Amino acid sequence: MAPRTPQLSPRSLIRSVTLASEYGAEWVEALAREIERNHRPDRSRLTVRWVWRVVPVPHLRQARCVVCAERWICPDVVWAEGLMSSGRRALDRLDR
Ligand SMILES: [Zn+2]
Repeated sequence: MAPRTPQLSPRSLIRSVTLASEYGAEWVEALAREIERNHRPDRSRLTVRWVWRVVPVPHLRQARCVVCAERWICPDVVWAEGLMSSGRRALDRLDR
């Protein structure tokens, strides 16, 4: 199966176009590339939860972003990936 192309939500697209009209499409793309480079998941950790204080239950803690501490995949990376694929066309149109 082909990997799904990340899509920008309409709200994110509007924000990106607004940013690009203010700072330029190149700046927005550089920001997205920097986010893609820096934001990455930490390791998911296996911990133990106690049920009724006597029964140990293994629990996998979900990975979080090392930069913004949001649950992986963090919203910043979702935006950056969406921008670098589907949103780029909108920014290209803006430059003309
Ligand atoms: Zn992040």
